[in-house]
Amino acid sequence: MWTQDYDLHSHSTNSDGEHSVEHVAKLMAVNDVKNWSLTDHDTIAGWNDAYAAAQKHGINFIPGVEITCECGLSANSDELELRNRDRGSKSWHLLAYFPGLIPNDARISTFAEWLIPLQNNRIPRMRKMIEKLTELGMPIEFSEVSSKAGGSIGRPHLAEVMVEKGYVESKHEAFELWIGDGLPGHVIQPKPTIQEAVDMVKKCGGITSLAHPIYYGIPPEELVEYCFDSGVDSIEAFHRSHPDDYRYELWQYCKEKSLSVSCGSDFHGQSYGQTPGSMAIPIAELCF
Ligand SMILES: [Zn+2]
Ligand SMILES: [Zn+2]
Repeated sequence: MWTQDYDLHSHSTNSDGEHSVEHVAKLMAVNDVKNWSLTDHDTIAGWNDAYAAAQKHGINFIPGVEITCECGLSANSDELELRNRDRGSKSWHLLAYFPGLIPNDARISTFAEWLIPLQNNRIPRMRKMIEKLTELGMPIEFSEVSSKAGGSIGRPHLAEVMVEKGYVESKHEAFELWIGDGLPGHVIQPKPTIQEAVDMVKKCGGITSLAHPIYYGIPPEELVEYCFDSGVDSIEAFHRSHPDDYRYELWQYCKEKSLSVSCGSDFHGQSYGQTPGSMAIPIAELCF
């Protein structure tokens, strides 16, 4: 049995999405999503709005967050080539879900406090990146970048300003030449390990799913093994960017290890040509 009622990965202006929480909820409902999770990067700032918006649109909201972690394993070049990727991403993203958690549960504040240093670091890091770019002959003001960010400030906002100022032709070029991982305008951000994040989420009553594994360049069997050993509950096998054969392969290895799977459009906004929903997933192995 398959369902298309779930979209468990989306972003709002509380991180690097382009729409308000209310608008994301509306688009989810319009696209027949019945169970929706907002998973902004390293913040739960959108949860209250999301509960209200979901109720208004008659859908179920599952509180979520996408935690930026250290890489669990180093990328394998054959696997990267097989999946047509230039390089493995410099961080792994762990989705955390708190189904059934009531809004004033004390564990939410424990979790929110744990997230604070991860977010606070975003501002000093952005200032350092701006400094580097200014030294490289691309002067930018912090206020120009912060005005693009509704909540959690990030590199996509910086890239937007770089395009507007004519330093690069596109956001893609900004990442490829200057602000991508390890490039001259980039500043490293300290991150929790997958294990640390898993332990924290569990302590607070949540479950975890490894987001968009195709970006990491790890052969599926090895990846599932790693998640199993680290106590990750689920794998986002059904991510929008995964081709069918990759989804299937991951799903089979997950079944072998009794790990569940999750699905997500990773919706960031309509101007990226993205639409939420229509994520087919087998009910039997769904993470909840
Ligand atoms: Zn991600
Ligand atoms: Zn995401």
